[in-house]
Amino acid sequence: NYRARSAFKLIEMDDHYRFLRPGQTVLDCGAAPGAWSQVLAKRTNANGEQVEKRVGKVMAVDLSPFHPIVGVTSFPLSDFTSPETQKQILETIDSKFDVIVSDMAPKVSGMNSLDHEIIIDLCRKVVRFSECALKPNGTLLMKIFDGGLTKDLEKILVNMFHKVKYVKPDSSRKNSAEIYFLCLKFKIKLSNT
Ligand code: SAM
Repeated sequence: NYRARSAFKLIEMDDHYRFLRPGQTVLDCGAAPGAWSQVLAKRTNANGEQVEKRVGKVMAVDLSPFHPIVGVTSFPLSDFTSPETQKQILETIDSKFDVIVSDMAPKVSGMNSLDHEIIIDLCRKVVRFSECALKPNGTLLMKIFDGGLTKDLEKILVNMFHKVKYVKPDSSRKNSAEIYFLCLKFKIKLSNT
């Protein structure tokens, strides 16, 4: 029983691309009410249900409050874009993340271009955080509302990851501008030159 139908979008994307595995450390940005976190807790085995498999770790952050989920470390009432929140998240992990997902979205204003700009800005912050918090070969999944700035964001992602895919899950409403960037294999930085 999932808390929201959004669970099926993540399930569908992972069934196809298989980026979630038992034992992984995952960050869920914009997690409330918690449906994606439920899927993540299951697939990383953060909830410990698969006795013989490695146990993962899931961290969930949202501006809104949400009910706890077994195996998930929650940061409710927290703005992901604030440096304090990011510091708190980093303090609770002892290695970097295998996977970072963001289903964050602003309260939709109805003005498509404005919503687009706001969500792209959120994505840029997730990208910046990922640069220092994602393991080499790690995965980044982010929701955007498609628009004029999509290509610019894609350019940045293509530089950072070996594979960048543009995914519209069947379970996402056809008439919404919502799409996902699935970025696979975070490139290993060779030097700071
Ligand atoms: N993936 C969730 C699930 O399956 O239950 C649904 C996420 S909902 C579409 C988008 C969420 O992003 C909202 O709960 C909203 O509060 C959150 N959000 C938007 N901006 C945020 C921010 N700056 N920091 C944290 N969460 C944010």
